[in-house]
Amino acid sequence: MMRAPSFAYRAPRSVAEVVEILAGEGPQARLLAGGTDLVPNLKRRQQVPVTLVALRRVEALKEVTSGGGFLTLGAGLTLSQVVGHRDLSPGQRALEVAASKVATPHIRNMGTIGGNLCLDTRCNYYNQNYEWRQAIDFCKKAPGPEGTAKTEVTTGICWVAPSSPRCWAVSSTDTAPALVALGAEVTLVSTQGERRIPLSELYFDDGMAYLTKRPDELLTAVHVPILGEGWKSTYWKLRRRGSFDFPVLSVAAAIKFGPQGVVLEARMTLGAVQSYPVSVPTDALLGQPLSDEVIATFAAAASRPARPLDNTDYNLSWRKKVCTAYIAGALKELRGDSPEQLGVLARTAARLPVLS
Ligand SMILES: Cc1cc2nc3c(=O)[nH]c(=O)nc-3n(C[C@H](O)[C@H](O)[C@H](O)COP(=O)(O)OP(=O)(O)OC[C@H]3O[C@@H](n4cnc5c(N)ncnc54)[C@H](O)[C@@H]3O)c2cc1C
Ligand code: SF4
Repeated sequence: MMRAPSFAYRAPRSVAEVVEILAGEGPQARLLAGGTDLVPNLKRRQQVPVTLVALRRVEALKEVTSGGGFLTLGAGLTLSQVVGHRDLSPGQRALEVAASKVATPHIRNMGTIGGNLCLDTRCNYYNQNYEWRQAIDFCKKAPGPEGTAKTEVTTGICWVAPSSPRCWAVSSTDTAPALVALGAEVTLVSTQGERRIPLSELYFDDGMAYLTKRPDELLTAVHVPILGEGWKSTYWKLRRRGSFDFPVLSVAAAIKFGPQGVVLEARMTLGAVQSYPVSVPTDALLGQPLSDEVIATFAAAASRPARPLDNTDYNLSWRKKVCTAYIAGALKELRGDSPEQLGVLARTAARLPVLS
């Protein structure tokens, strides 16, 4: 049995208390939301915090409000609470599909939207138990000798790209690409005050330092634009087991259609192809309906920034090809193609699972 290392446990009841603790403890403290990612990581000694700051008792993180053109979701809402929330509008469907495709119903009942947005990056050489990683002499991202804080390990090899100075672990959150495509923003709070930034700016292209958030900051809320008439959005996810696994590729798309299906606005974000959710330029879609030809040309170009590496599931050149197919499929779904027209693979990718 894998056991978690010992740690001090704090369970504050307010945002003010949380940020006071974070300011006092420094980077050795870590926030614990649902714990569905953090607890396994502790057991594998990928993270060895001195103090865990539990967020479950902070009621302010579970609120849902709307105003100023945004639906605001508290970071402590579980993914199950987000899926099917009565205040979600049809234009925000990408979020609902993405949240519904995270892991399993049990994990969605525990895991929070805030935890999902701050999810650790993943790599085949990192998401292993301590002994496995010890056998390969660890890597840049993973801790060294047991009990050593991650921050002390600054050297080491990257087994994916041995000559690389950086870590290429993959952004594997489902809701981040969907929310970036929807134009979401997040609020970060610390003892120094509060700041609200576009969600896209929360991420950094580095498998180790993958968040721009400071360790003393708490993500309190995500603000999702209420997309009105003409907007449609979707989320396609590739994974081996359709009811369990992390994404190894995802495509989130949001489009505003005008008369005759002309594209007025468009946003697309790719997930699990780099260390951050990658937004692709969409100018080539604007001012015209989504014909087969427009979609094929766009999909070929838009999949170029996807640089899958050999550190997740599936063959990487195949994943690259699927990226083009998924971009095309997501656009065809948004223009109104039927599930039969989209085909079996596509139906599996975009379908909302049966929720329990
Ligand atoms: C078997 C399995 C399958 C999974 N499949 C998927 C999947 O398909 N897709 C997917 O996206 N995820 C998946 N996950 C990962 C995880 O369950 C989800 O991402 C979940 O949403 C994480 O939320 P949490 O509340 O449990 O986060 P936690 O584990 O509590 O925290 C995760 C990280 O976020 C930080 N954090 C949490 N809340 C905040 C906050 N409010 N402010 C700042 N930092 C914060 C924590 O300190 C920690 O670093 C899977 C996990 C397991 C075990
Ligand atoms: S990409 Fe390289 S450094 Fe990063 S987790 Fe994988 S092996 Fe380690």
